[in-house]
Amino acid sequence: MTTARILDFLRTRRPDGPCLVVDLDVVRDNFLSFRKALPDSSIYYAVKANPAPEILRLLASLGSSFDCASVAEIEMALKAGGSADRVSYGNTIKKERDIARAHALGVSMFAVDSHEEVEKIARAAPGARVFCRVLTDGEGAEWPLSRKFGCVPQMAVDVLVYAHQLGLVSHGVSFHVGSQMTKLDAWDSALADARRVFDKLAQQGIHLKMVNMGGGFPTRYLKDIPTAQAYGQAIFASLRKHFGNHIPETIIEPGRGMVGNAGAIKAEVVLVSRKSDEDDVRWVFLDIGKFGGLAETMDEAIRYSIVTPRDGDAVEPCVLAGPTCDSADVLYEKTPYPMPVSLTIGDEVLIEGTGAYTTTYSAVAFNGFEPLRSYVI
Ligand SMILES: *Cc1c(COP(=O)(O)O)cnc(C)c1O
Repeated sequence: MTTARILDFLRTRRPDGPCLVVDLDVVRDNFLSFRKALPDSSIYYAVKANPAPEILRLLASLGSSFDCASVAEIEMALKAGGSADRVSYGNTIKKERDIARAHALGVSMFAVDSHEEVEKIARAAPGARVFCRVLTDGEGAEWPLSRKFGCVPQMAVDVLVYAHQLGLVSHGVSFHVGSQMTKLDAWDSALADARRVFDKLAQQGIHLKMVNMGGGFPTRYLKDIPTAQAYGQAIFASLRKHFGNHIPETIIEPGRGMVGNAGAIKAEVVLVSRKSDEDDVRWVFLDIGKFGGLAETMDEAIRYSIVTPRDGDAVEPCVLAGPTCDSADVLYEKTPYPMPVSLTIGDEVLIEGTGAYTTTYSAVAFNGFEPLRSYVI
């Protein structure tokens, strides 16, 4: 599934060291698929998935908006050609002076999930639009976002009433079903919650306009995933079911689903060894690990597809690990990874579907290893 352009780039340029190569054609296809799947929703690309300037510029030129979590991300989106009125400051945890800076840059839409955050926004960005994030259970997500963000729907009602009282525009409700969500119906109960929040506020004369349906759209790793079209149909059916003929403005914020399958990491086998002569599980050490950008292998949550030059030969389960001197730098051990028995030191492997959540997770210089290099083609 790695594209011919990426393979060609690696063959002709032969970059040294581990590196990510991202194919912009795939990003463009993904954007167009999302737009086709949910034509009435605005697309806010979640910048944190991969903030490479080439990606942001392409998406801005295609008409994307941006979901940003910090002032630095907002500045990157603006520099790439995004406009401030199409930026959402979607982090529910912001310093008041960062809210003020975002406001000064022209950003006018902010996420909240507490009374305390509403007070900061009322002071630092008077009159801004706010949307309140509600909790979801994250069930079915391979990278759940748990209880860190959002509040229960009843509290969301109170938070949005409070925002209105403090002179802000109570604009809507948001949720995130959890990243790498492989269940098509995961949006349904969150949309039911959103509808209840809309109704309770309407009873108090506050009319919400928007539902931010977050990210969660998956990338294909080892298992097949439904198409963007299938997600679009399921989500639209739930919108109809819960909002009838009064479907509000909607936003989606794909991160992984926009860039994950657009990238592949080239890495190299540094060592293949055993811990004892009787050991039947070999250890395969790559020149990239948890600290070089593969942080999502934490708890073996994300299981990447790895292509080797010896695919087709007999395989044996291996423990796969990174090159640093930290015992946490093991990628797959609880569930060993099948690798060709013939795999040898110096072999180059391709870790596929790594366009999202890799470069920015890579450490600055742990053990002197440089951060993950990336090429956007
Ligand atoms: C991380 C994040 C996203 C993107 O999530 P994906 O699962 O990568 O699509 C979207 N919205 C918010 C608020 C986020 O924090």
